[in-house]
Amino acid sequence: MKIAIIGIGAVGAAVATAVAGTGLAREMVLFDRDGLRARAAAEDLGHASAFSYDVKITAVNNYRGIRGSDIVIIAAGANQKPGETRTDLLEKNVAVVSDIIPRVMANTDTKRVKIIVVTNPLDVMVMLTQKLSKLPAGRVIGTGTMLDTARLRTILGRALGVSTRAVHAYVLGEHGDSSVVAWNAASVGGLPLDDFCRQTKNSLTAASRQTIEYRVHNAAYEIIRGRGATWDGIGAAVADLVRCIANDERRILTVSMVEGTGRAALAMSLPRIVGDAGVVASLRPRLSVSESAGLRKSGKIIRANFDAIGK
Ligand code: NAD
Repeated sequence: MKIAIIGIGAVGAAVATAVAGTGLAREMVLFDRDGLRARAAAEDLGHASAFSYDVKITAVNNYRGIRGSDIVIIAAGANQKPGETRTDLLEKNVAVVSDIIPRVMANTDTKRVKIIVVTNPLDVMVMLTQKLSKLPAGRVIGTGTMLDTARLRTILGRALGVSTRAVHAYVLGEHGDSSVVAWNAASVGGLPLDDFCRQTKNSLTAASRQTIEYRVHNAAYEIIRGRGATWDGIGAAVADLVRCIANDERRILTVSMVEGTGRAALAMSLPRIVGDAGVVASLRPRLSVSESAGLRKSGKIIRANFDAIGK
């Protein structure tokens, strides 16, 4: 499998490291408008691969170098500075994605390529990428709330004293401040969350749920405050998505993709079945009245931001 990564900043480099670590790529090509940066990353990663999987990693200085890619990962663009929201990046990253996608499409096989979008604000960038690429919606996949869902599962697992892997709970909607924690659909070890809490004598009060939601929503801000940017979590999320596609695993991931057409088109995260064809089906969890209202509101925010870019 050949994988191209466009944008080799903090996120692109972490994605490259994590994807190389899956052992699933035969070849990886790195492109950044800063060629020096891409070459340095390819060199460093190439040395690292001597200790793990044999993957050919090269930097390319034009888009011809991505020809033959099965998956193209878009990680280019401005990131949040401390205090900035993802939506604050809208204008800058519309220009970045509008520059990249036509070049990607001119150099890939439109019948099979899949694009993974990482650039923020994520859902609007998925809509823009799908519109510019004209690919079937299921092959333009945003990492969406994969990372938010991972954060929720980690925090909830710790609070309940169980492995993260035993927790099935989703964050839905925008990969941003309006995302919704789907408490009503959460389960642990196959038991509805409330039943699990009753049987294990855990108490998850409304206040503690609110605190968990706050921590999930604010995780990126906290990491950016302390580290300047976030990269490890998203690197692992993209590698997991690549694994799911490459092995046709058909796991259920909260990724973002466009549904609907014209004025009704909207990208947001829902639990979706992902395999080698991309997203093959989308699921609608049973939500409470307030969660449903929150999800509708989240959709309206994404759509309004997309309308604001005038594309
Ligand atoms: P960064 O500033 O470290 O790197 C961005 C890179 O993009 C730079 O190397 C720059 O040269 C390159 N670039 C910019 N315009 C380009 C173009 N037109 N063509 C090719 N390369 C171009 O930023 P980062 O921390 O790596 O973040 C990248 C993006 O990922 C941001 O939009 C950030 O918000 C997003 N992000 C998303 C998630 C998620 O969960 N989806 C998580 C973290 C970060």
